[in-house]
Amino acid sequence: MIYAANPPARNQSETLNEAMNEIPNKTLQDSGERDSCAPQERPLGPELLAPAGTLKSLRFALAYGADAVYAGMPRYSLRVRNNDFHRLETLAQGIEETHLQGRRFYLACNVLPHDRKVETFLADLAPVVALGPDALIMADPGLILLVREQWPELPVHLSVQANTMNHASVRFWQRQGIRRVILSRELSLEEVAQIRRRCPEVELEVFVHGALCIAYSGRCLLSGYFNHRDPNQGTCTNACRWNYNLYPATPDESGEVVPEPVPVSAPFLLEEATRPGEFMPVEEDEHGTYILNSRDLRAVEFVEQLVAMGVDCLKIEGRTKSHYYVARTVQVYRRAIDDALAGRPFDPGLLAQLETLAHRGYTSGFFQRHPPQAHQNYRSGCSEIGSQRFVGELRSGVDARGMVEVEVKNKFAVGDVLELMTPRGNHRFVLRAMEDLRGWAQREAPGSGHRVRIPLEMTEEMAGRMVGQAGAWSEEDWRMGLLVRVTEAPARWQVKAASS
Ligand code: SF4
Repeated sequence: MIYAANPPARNQSETLNEAMNEIPNKTLQDSGERDSCAPQERPLGPELLAPAGTLKSLRFALAYGADAVYAGMPRYSLRVRNNDFHRLETLAQGIEETHLQGRRFYLACNVLPHDRKVETFLADLAPVVALGPDALIMADPGLILLVREQWPELPVHLSVQANTMNHASVRFWQRQGIRRVILSRELSLEEVAQIRRRCPEVELEVFVHGALCIAYSGRCLLSGYFNHRDPNQGTCTNACRWNYNLYPATPDESGEVVPEPVPVSAPFLLEEATRPGEFMPVEEDEHGTYILNSRDLRAVEFVEQLVAMGVDCLKIEGRTKSHYYVARTVQVYRRAIDDALAGRPFDPGLLAQLETLAHRGYTSGFFQRHPPQAHQNYRSGCSEIGSQRFVGELRSGVDARGMVEVEVKNKFAVGDVLELMTPRGNHRFVLRAMEDLRGWAQREAPGSGHRVRIPLEMTEEMAGRMVGQAGAWSEEDWRMGLLVRVTEAPARWQVKAASS
C-alpha cells in the first residue's frame, strides 16, 4: 500500500485546537468520515499480534501463527535499545516478508516527544511510510495530527501508551481518525466488554501477555529520576525491577542521615500512615528488595472470553525477547484462539506451556481483581528460567538416517528429555544419541557455536504429520524448528514462594 502525502500542513496548534473543538458537535455515526477510520474487513476471530524486535523474531512469529507483527521505529518508539530495525533496509525486508505471507506489519512510533523530535518526525517518517506499513502505532496527539494531515489514508492505531480507559476516550479518538484503539492494560474484562458494546465501530486491541509496568503503561519517571533515561522516550532501564537494599541509618554530627554499612536482613513490613494494619511485605534476600516489581501478564485463560466479546486483536508484548519466546507465546495463543473459535474448551495445558518460559511470576493483571501480592513479585527482579531451556535451532530436515542437524545454543546431553517445537506441532523425546558433523559419537553438545546431529525419534503418526503426507516440508519449514531441554524443575521464585 502506497500512501499519498497531503500538501504541507497548516499551523499545528491551530489545527489540533480545531480538531478538539469539533467533538461536542459530532455524533458517533458521523465520525467514520475519514478514510482510514472505516473498519477493515475483519478476519474471523481476533488478530494475533506478535512482537518483532528483530527480523529473526518476525520470521518465527509468522511461522508459528501470528496474523500480524509490530516493530518499533527506533528514534520514535519505546524500544530504542535492542531494536533490529535501525536500518531502513531491514525495515523494508521485514515489511516485504510479512506482506508476502499475507500478514500485516505495524510500526510503533509511540514516544511522547519533546519538540526536538517533533521537528524531525515527518521527514524521518516519510521513507518509512513509503515502505507500506499497514498502520502506525502512536500515542502523542500532536504526532497523530501531523500524520493524519500528511497521510490521511495511513491507518493509525492508538498506543497503549495513550492510556485509553473508557468508551468516551475511545469515541474521542475515533473522531480523530484513529482506526484501532489499544486499550489500557489497567481494564477489567467487564470494562473491556462494556467498551466493546458501546463502541462497536472501532477496532479494539488488548494485551494478553508480557511485562507489565508498575505505573500506567510507560507513564513513569522512575527510570528518569534514577539515571535520566525516560521511559516515554523509549529508554526505560526497568528501574522498578531493580533490587533495593535497606540500611539502618543514623544522623551524623552534621545532622545528615548516613547509612550503617551492613544491610538489614530481617523482613520489613511497610505501612502507610493512614492505613494502620495494612502491611505490605518488604523482604530482603542476598540480592536485595523488590518493592515495585510487577509480575508478567498471562491471560491465555481469558482468550475465550475476549474472542466472544469481539475484541479485534490480542497482543503479545516482548520486542526485547528472544525468537524462542516469540515462537512459544505465538504458538500457545494461536492454539487458544483457534480452540475458542472452533468451540473447543480451553486446554489448561497451555498455561503449563507458558510456565516453561522465563518469567517474573505470572498474573492475570487487571482482567480480574487480585490482592496486591498477586500483581507484584517481591522476591526477584529478573526473569527466572522456566522449566524448559532453549538449546538449539534445526539447521536441516530429517535425512535418510532419521537425523537432523542442530545449531547448539545451550548445553544439552544424551539422556536429556528434549522437545522439538515446530510450526506443525511439538514432539517430546529422550535423546538417545548424538554425533558431531564428522559422524563421531558425542555425549554432550557443549554450548553455543557448535553443530551436532541427533536422531528424531517420532511416533509414526507424528512423523507422518510432520514429514510426509500433509505436504512435504521445505528446508525453510525445518529451519523454524527449535529444540528445548525439559527440566521440569520449578523456577527459583516458585521454590521460594512454596517454602516461605
Ligand atoms: S521503570 Fe518500570 S514502571 Fe517505569 S516505565 Fe520502566 S518498566 Fe514501566
